[in-house]
Amino acid sequence: MTDQTKYVYDLAEGDMSMKPLLGGKGAGIAEMNKIGVPVPDAFTVTTEACVAAMKNDGTWPDGLSDQIDGGLARLEERTGLQLGDAENPLLVSVRSGAVQSMPGMMDTILNLGISDETVESVAKLADNERFAWDCYRRFIQMYGEVVEGIEPHVYEDALTKLKDDKGVEQDTDLTADDLKGLVATFKQLSNEALGGNWTTDPHEQLHRAVNAVFKSWLNPRAEVYRKSQGISRDLGTAVNVQQMVFGNRGDTSATGVCFSRNPSTGVKELYGEFLTNAQGEDVVAGIRTPRPLAEMEEVLPEAFRELLDTMARLEEHNKDMQDMEFTIEDRKLYMLQTRNGKRTAAAAVKTAVDMVDEGLITKEEALLRVEPAQLDALLHPGIDPNDASEAIVKGLPASPGAAVGALSFNADDAAERGGQGENVILVRYETTPDDIHGVMVSQGVLTAHGGMTSHAAVVARGMGITCVAGAPGIKIDPKAETVTINGKTYGTGDTLTLNGSTGDVFDGALELVPPDLNEDFEKITTWADEVRRLGVRANAENFEDASKARELGAEGIGLARTEHMFMASDRLPAVRKMILAENEEQRAAALEEILPMQQKDFEAIFTAMKGLPVTVRLLDPPLHEFLPNLVDQSLLVQRLEIEGAPEDKLAKERETLAQVKKLHEQNPMLGTRGCRLAMLYPSIPEMQARAIIKAALAVQEREGETVGVEIMIPLVVIKKELEVQREIVTKAVEDEFEKAGKRLDYTIGTMIEIPRAALTADQIAEAADFFSFGTNDLTQTGIGISRDDAESGFLGHYVADEVMPKNPFESIDVDGVGQLVRIGVEKGRATKPNLKTGVCGEHGGDPASIEFFNSVGLDYVSCSPFRVPIARLSAARAELLSRKK
Ligand code: PEP
Ligand code: MG
Repeated sequence: MTDQTKYVYDLAEGDMSMKPLLGGKGAGIAEMNKIGVPVPDAFTVTTEACVAAMKNDGTWPDGLSDQIDGGLARLEERTGLQLGDAENPLLVSVRSGAVQSMPGMMDTILNLGISDETVESVAKLADNERFAWDCYRRFIQMYGEVVEGIEPHVYEDALTKLKDDKGVEQDTDLTADDLKGLVATFKQLSNEALGGNWTTDPHEQLHRAVNAVFKSWLNPRAEVYRKSQGISRDLGTAVNVQQMVFGNRGDTSATGVCFSRNPSTGVKELYGEFLTNAQGEDVVAGIRTPRPLAEMEEVLPEAFRELLDTMARLEEHNKDMQDMEFTIEDRKLYMLQTRNGKRTAAAAVKTAVDMVDEGLITKEEALLRVEPAQLDALLHPGIDPNDASEAIVKGLPASPGAAVGALSFNADDAAERGGQGENVILVRYETTPDDIHGVMVSQGVLTAHGGMTSHAAVVARGMGITCVAGAPGIKIDPKAETVTINGKTYGTGDTLTLNGSTGDVFDGALELVPPDLNEDFEKITTWADEVRRLGVRANAENFEDASKARELGAEGIGLARTEHMFMASDRLPAVRKMILAENEEQRAAALEEILPMQQKDFEAIFTAMKGLPVTVRLLDPPLHEFLPNLVDQSLLVQRLEIEGAPEDKLAKERETLAQVKKLHEQNPMLGTRGCRLAMLYPSIPEMQARAIIKAALAVQEREGETVGVEIMIPLVVIKKELEVQREIVTKAVEDEFEKAGKRLDYTIGTMIEIPRAALTADQIAEAADFFSFGTNDLTQTGIGISRDDAESGFLGHYVADEVMPKNPFESIDVDGVGQLVRIGVEKGRATKPNLKTGVCGEHGGDPASIEFFNSVGLDYVSCSPFRVPIARLSAARAELLSRKK
């Protein structure tokens, strides 16, 4: 039985709604064709065909080969041309086109169909011999590299040698005869490289080219990009076979790329680049530096005006900023591609807001246009505008923001150092898709070559990485790993500062200043507040962080970790005394010392947050974080013994060692943490409760209002623990009220951060006024992976090998840990229908996790202050998406 699946669609059969099947490019050209924009005729092989082949180790599904031949026959009929025909040859491009755009990730083959048989006709029809031979040599080169896997240098070396022999600099200086000779050389080299198996039959070449596109879906650089963008490998890519139009038919032909708005700033203005007498990849690859689009008005005025009209039309039709590729063949404009343009965070926010003002989209659509992760970039610091430092060179402002880092001259090195947390700046002549793993972890990218739409620029903008491209006159020596700028040579590890918004490059590290959040940003986050159901709070434990959080829109503090206040060097001795106390008397003395410090801390937070709720979590120390390290302390004692240190000193250190040994735990994260410590030493929670209430009353007295006091007990696993702690806290609180002759409202709740707590949440809720899910510990204990060790160990491999889709400490493991949260909420609310529930683990600031938390009905998320705007937007988007569903 033959496979009845339709794998091939003619241009006129498709439209935008078929994007999953035809890929972004295929659906894009079909839609353009549908609305009457001039597009070269084409057919598209579906993503399903790619997936079917991938599932079958590369073997094509039944019928695919025949369907491609059918598609080709219909294309030949429509164009009146034939592939390989000596009189009327059809030439096609073969391009990949995934559902989501993958810049520079996939390989394009142009001019397929040119051969010894057809080249003369191509020359005659175009009345341009040089053009025909140029097409031919380009084809052999692309086809050889992409389809047959021949090393690029095989061709590049031959081309360079020819130019040297002829004494010319540019490819365009080569004559028709030069190129004819080059074709012969290329063919011979190709045949040698393939051991005599070089095919010259265009039909076979077409099939092999389609297959190469399928295979390129799985190539390593595509793999890296997909992973970084969370694009599933199972989607596959479509293949577009399209009639060639020629931008390299002399000076009345051109090719270029353009955007309907500036993708760096979002401003509605002319933005793009073109090259006359050139073919597509010349512009994108950044090999010849292209000219700004505005100059096209002089060179090709009619095509220029038609392009402006078409741009406006495509933006209006797609209701989004468009990124387009075009070719002008002998003054006639053709659109080759349109897609929603990748843009910087600033541009995303500005275009979304402007398009609402222009009536093009609704506020809700605007919210879905801005990726929460992009806001992150806007919240990053920039160079102080008052800094008077002189730039050492000015390149193109290819991707905005500021970057300070140590130089790296190859992507592997940048990937390694950046991966270890070093701030690096990748310096390359120009970047290629093979550099992507290095670009991804760099602070910034500096290139000597290439324009605003070069690979480096597009990728950096998409990832929110600062980029200065095409810096003129800088000399990079990749072997010596140096760059010479303005007469000074910089090597690996030397520091530069890049300003991707202006293109300026500075010697050394400039001071960066906090970002300026403009009106558009305000608008988007305010619209988000109108839509979202989830509350957004922040995790903070000092005045500065709390104030920052409030400024960024936090509606309260969801977690103040009191042990963080104990880490400061002036506190640690008292805290150690408290932990190491041998009896209640000693402990009471230590606590007496700590109480005023804690009260001061709380007063600062409460002042910053007055009028809003603040959840203060009682002490949750894995003890090892507060005690001297066992090994260090042992060594210290040994050393003092050898040195013959005074007996009293030795005795003191020996005593500490004995205490450290006594309290030493193999698994401190599962040890005497959280309420377990408070169960052993009730005087600790009692002191903390007193400090909280004293602070709240003091702030109320001083400021006229105070915060909603929420006292939270950590690491509860058994209802009884919470009951005991609740009683201790309540007694202390009531006692303080009595002493002060005043009271205020307060609640007592618990963290849910151990599976047992989630599973018995109905019981625990009896003693709790609220729940806050500690998804850090819930992930650690739910999956059984150590928070401290896993990320630097096997977990990295698991994520890289896709054993786990994402790092579960970054984005909630919905299937596992997520279920514990769901059960916790359901059981808790079964006991107390109005039980307030939130989350305060790191996941509270992660967009995908927020979508999940919204779906299980939590009341709020709490995250670090700088993520508050991201959480506000994510919460709104989660709500919009859930309504859509
Ligand atoms: C948690 O476990 O998710 C939590 C917020 O607490 P901590 O990270 O302080 O253990
Ligand atoms: Mg915890």
